[in-house]
Amino acid sequence: MDRLEDHLTYETHDYDVLVIGAGGAGLRAAIEASAGGVKVGLLCKSLLGKAHTVMAEGGIAAALSNVDDRDSWKVHFADTMRGGQYVNNWRMAELHAREAPDRVRELEAWGALFDRTPDGRILQRNFGGHKYPRLAHVGDRTGLEMIRTLQDHGIHRGIDVHMEFTVVTLLTDGGRVVGAFGYERERGRFKLFRAKATVLATGGIGRAYRITSNSWEGTGDGHALAYLAGAELMDMEFIQFHPTGMVWPPSVQGILVTEGVRGEGGVLRNSEGRRFMFDDIPENYRTQTADNPEEGWRYTQGDKNARRPPELLTRDHVARCIVREVKGGRGSPHGGVFLDIAWIKEKIPNAADHIRKKLPSMYHQFKELAGLDITTEAMEVGPTTHYVMGGVRVDSDTQMSTVPGLFAAGECAAGINGANRLGGNSLSDLLVFGQRAGEHAAIFARKNPGGRIDERQLDAASKHALRPFDHGQGGENPFKIQQELQGVMQDLVGIVREESEMRRALDGLEALNARAERAGITGHREYNNGWHTALDLANLLVVSQAITISALERKESRGGHFRTDYPEKDPAFAAFNIVVRRASDGAMQTARAPIADMPAELKRVIEENK
Ligand SMILES: Cc1cc2nc3c(=O)[nH]c(=O)nc-3n(C[C@H](O)[C@H](O)[C@H](O)COP(=O)(O)OP(=O)(O)OC[C@H]3O[C@@H](n4cnc5c(N)ncnc54)[C@H](O)[C@@H]3O)c2cc1C
Repeated sequence: MDRLEDHLTYETHDYDVLVIGAGGAGLRAAIEASAGGVKVGLLCKSLLGKAHTVMAEGGIAAALSNVDDRDSWKVHFADTMRGGQYVNNWRMAELHAREAPDRVRELEAWGALFDRTPDGRILQRNFGGHKYPRLAHVGDRTGLEMIRTLQDHGIHRGIDVHMEFTVVTLLTDGGRVVGAFGYERERGRFKLFRAKATVLATGGIGRAYRITSNSWEGTGDGHALAYLAGAELMDMEFIQFHPTGMVWPPSVQGILVTEGVRGEGGVLRNSEGRRFMFDDIPENYRTQTADNPEEGWRYTQGDKNARRPPELLTRDHVARCIVREVKGGRGSPHGGVFLDIAWIKEKIPNAADHIRKKLPSMYHQFKELAGLDITTEAMEVGPTTHYVMGGVRVDSDTQMSTVPGLFAAGECAAGINGANRLGGNSLSDLLVFGQRAGEHAAIFARKNPGGRIDERQLDAASKHALRPFDHGQGGENPFKIQQELQGVMQDLVGIVREESEMRRALDGLEALNARAERAGITGHREYNNGWHTALDLANLLVVSQAITISALERKESRGGHFRTDYPEKDPAFAAFNIVVRRASDGAMQTARAPIADMPAELKRVIEENK
């Protein structure tokens, strides 16, 4: 398509429920909405089946109690709250823990082939922060199985799928979201979707950082779309830096090394060969953590009387311990530390076969990308930007945002994880809250007629989308701006933060914002990567600013947010979440949202499971 073609030429589609995003959350929401008897449209930037969820490795957390009958929703709830450092939305954490087992069993009924216990039940593995083996898994390819199953099931429900389509704006009518507008990535043509209810399931924001495990899709589109439509974001300061990403070679830096490696007995060592995680066990985890390597090993092999090794402490803590070793000059040659699973040959016969069976993707990943055999050598690993706990502020039961008609689920929504997410709790979150979002979006659509589409909003959106063509060759290079933005966030709002650096980040972001306004590209609208990047920039900038101003506001350290100028937790900050909203003059501002008092029953559950 010629870029000079009338900017208001577009195809129109009508749905009751529009789901933006076809990862686990979007697919599950679409299935549920369709089961509610309404017409559903599903949009995604990549091909169906290729959403970021497909990369998930370790498993889905659900208290099925198949491997350890001491597990229950209560223990899962308490683990999630402790991991989130008690600023989670406790109602979401409760719903999640209670409903995850049913959602996993349902996935199995729809055809997911989980690994099995000897007596044929769904096998569950250990993961950081979970007291008992809890992660239902398919080797280390759980996300692939999840997506395959949901996709098959969804297709048979007659959901309309529009692949390789990017939403650039949500349309509003009197403060309610009534549709979405965007372009086909392949042909560059615009499309308008009218919808009575819209579910955002757009995933994470990892691409705002230089080192990330996230796929190219993680540009925070849903966060920005919601914010610009008037919704509130919450907990944006809480970013999870996964402790184990690849650090070498540079081309693969950031790619995830699943926590499953540590769950299967892998240990972290520094350049002196020391298991440094034993040196720093936080007080609130001390009673649950092994105090010697032998006990830790027994835990990974299912000994119910053993406590977890310190390598399976929460991700924020493990990541900071790794940074400490590297900064202390005890790192590996390429700036990480060593993760060793090969050592288990001292413990079990046929260790190499065992590792290849339990961790097939990790084996191939290191063999192919780093020329390293994990059955005989230690890996080099370091922290990588992995997950955003923050997102669209939603109602715990319905997943509706603060804007009527707009729902959010999965990684782009906030609440369940608080200050830090436990591994495995995302895939279960996608199922539990995807289902809820779909159900309640369908209810909303049945109760409310379609809204009015404002031509002026469409006009502004299409002009905005085409502006990079107008700036052309003389404009700013969008790739360069994106690279600089990632540098700002990585270096100034990363794992370890402080006031002056974050203030510099804000200045840097403001300058980049001005340059992004002048981003220019050449060529036509068909599969133009420069164009896609220029449009992604606006979202990345919104998200980066939200992270930075929230991080400045939280003057303490908690979970994924660590400040050298406020290195301790401050109980006063446990009383509220930080929300970000757009003021009437268009400025981004923060506010403190008090956390509702937890019912006595849930408090008791936490006490009993301390
Ligand atoms: C390597 C890796 C391993 C992981 N392993 C685990 C694990 O074992 N267990 C666990 O619980 N979690 C794991 N996670 C985290 C988990 O995979 C993610 O949090 C989760 O998959 C996010 O799912 P989602 O449905 O919210 O979004 P995604 O799967 O990210 O899907 C987002 C969808 O939105 C679409 N989209 C985005 N923007 C737009 C737009 N503007 N217009 C149209 N469509 C759009 C995308 O195309 C995509 O279809 C892992 C993460 C990584 C990176």
